[in-house]
Amino acid sequence: MDAHLLDELRQIVGPRGLITSHEELHTYDTDALTNIRVLPQAVLLPSSTEQVQAILRLCHRERLPFVARGAGTGLSGGALPVADGIVISLARMNRILEVDLPNARVTVEPGVINLDVTARVAPQDYFYAPDPSSQSICSIGGNVAENSGGAHCLKYGFTTTHVLGLEVVLPDGTLIHLGGKTLDAPGYDLLGVFVGSEGTLGIATKMILRIVKRPECVQTLLAAFPSTNEAGAAVSSMIAAGMLPSAIEMMDRLSIQASEAAVHANYPMCGALLLVELDGPVAEVAALMADVNKICREHAAEEIRLAQSDTERALVWKGRKAAFAAMGRISPNYIVQDGVIPRTALPRVMSEIDQLSQEAGLRVANVFHAGDGNLHPMVLYDQRIPGQEHAAEALSSKILEICIAAGGSITGEHGVGEDKKKMMSKMFAEPDLATMQRVRCAFDPYNLSNPTKVFPTPRLCGEKPGEYKPHPAEISGSADRF
Ligand SMILES: Cc1cc2nc3c(=O)[nH]c(=O)nc-3n(C[C@H](O)[C@H](O)[C@H](O)COP(=O)(O)OP(=O)(O)OC[C@H]3O[C@@H](n4cnc5c(N)ncnc54)[C@H](O)[C@@H]3O)c2cc1C
Repeated sequence: MDAHLLDELRQIVGPRGLITSHEELHTYDTDALTNIRVLPQAVLLPSSTEQVQAILRLCHRERLPFVARGAGTGLSGGALPVADGIVISLARMNRILEVDLPNARVTVEPGVINLDVTARVAPQDYFYAPDPSSQSICSIGGNVAENSGGAHCLKYGFTTTHVLGLEVVLPDGTLIHLGGKTLDAPGYDLLGVFVGSEGTLGIATKMILRIVKRPECVQTLLAAFPSTNEAGAAVSSMIAAGMLPSAIEMMDRLSIQASEAAVHANYPMCGALLLVELDGPVAEVAALMADVNKICREHAAEEIRLAQSDTERALVWKGRKAAFAAMGRISPNYIVQDGVIPRTALPRVMSEIDQLSQEAGLRVANVFHAGDGNLHPMVLYDQRIPGQEHAAEALSSKILEICIAAGGSITGEHGVGEDKKKMMSKMFAEPDLATMQRVRCAFDPYNLSNPTKVFPTPRLCGEKPGEYKPHPAEISGSADRF
């Protein structure tokens, strides 16, 4: 990178806020999708909104691409650097700026760790509801950019439900404010557009979050089933009965084995395990738990157990939240997928995944946010065996195609990023993608903010409607998903 430009960047963030050494840059060459790595030109660590603005003004002047980075736990390559650009890490902007309990609002900087928000308001019996399994390490900025979910989003809603306002630096350095402390701002819902935009529209430098009062009572039930078919049918029956548990999670046999090896949560060894959590007033939880019990028995549950203490409940969740990492116990390598299907399609989709797994000769472990129909198939492979990595990638793409064919989606919560942009044209028709691109161009006309991500082919801003010539692969997208 040009030495003069580096000097200008150094002046903005100070010498300790700029990383250029080859060795240190390697720390930032990937996120949790570790099979793709790119070395950036430099990494900047701003400590204020003003510094972010100054950096983006320079990027705009020099047409220098940039990638925002939170904690780098993303699973779709969203924070993967671009080789001709810089990474802007928000890790130093990690202050909780305001706790407004009477209005149940918290204002934070983007580098604040998800679980730290709850830790701050827990003494007053509040919590921040979106709970990705990575919540002890991922940042709120990353959560906002990915619209992250978690086990308890079934009842409480994804990140987008809990973000009320954002301060955003646009790719030319302009500061804007989207939403605010009150609900339902007039005008276009640009806050909704930004949440889940995966770093392609600018950098969020402040967020106003909604916090929630702790329920009077929480109970967690474990139910062991012969297979995912019976467990899936039990989930559909619960939802059809009008229940809204705070979480319904499912793990298949392989996932249970891996989690047990890592965490010793004392899970029953079975074909499929359901974790059902209910919260609310004591009497309501007791009544609903009796109904959940009955439904599980009606669907051939082999064992049903209620966690007896907060410690036991915490261990049950520790096992579930460690499920991805635990795969290391049973396989040297794995790819985590993130498809969504209608809940009722679960038996059919599971049997198709099983069939593909047998054909490819690769094991697939499954954990699900079952209440949301969000599957996390994990394709297990051994990188040392020639051809296996490629076969695993092909299998995981086929699994997403099954999800689309079932009326679902290629991502429930992990985002498109670098990894799944090739699948976008299978899900969206060209006019859909072109319209998304026009939104992107309105924020970022020079395509500087996390370029090359989310969209299947490089697109420029400035084509008039109808002028864009799609890549042939994009034409196969289906417009009749509705
Ligand atoms: C073990 C494990 C379990 C996981 N479990 C879940 C889960 O249950 N649910 C779930 O949803 N995800 C889960 N994830 C994925 C990941 O943790 C989430 O996507 C998380 O929100 C990423 O946060 P991060 O701070 O690490 O962001 P990063 O990975 O650093 O970045 C993610 C994206 O956000 C953009 N970005 C970051 N900060 C900003 C900002 N301030 N402004 C604009 N764009 C920004 C980046 O450019 C990138 O595109 C899991 C990951 C792991 C490793």
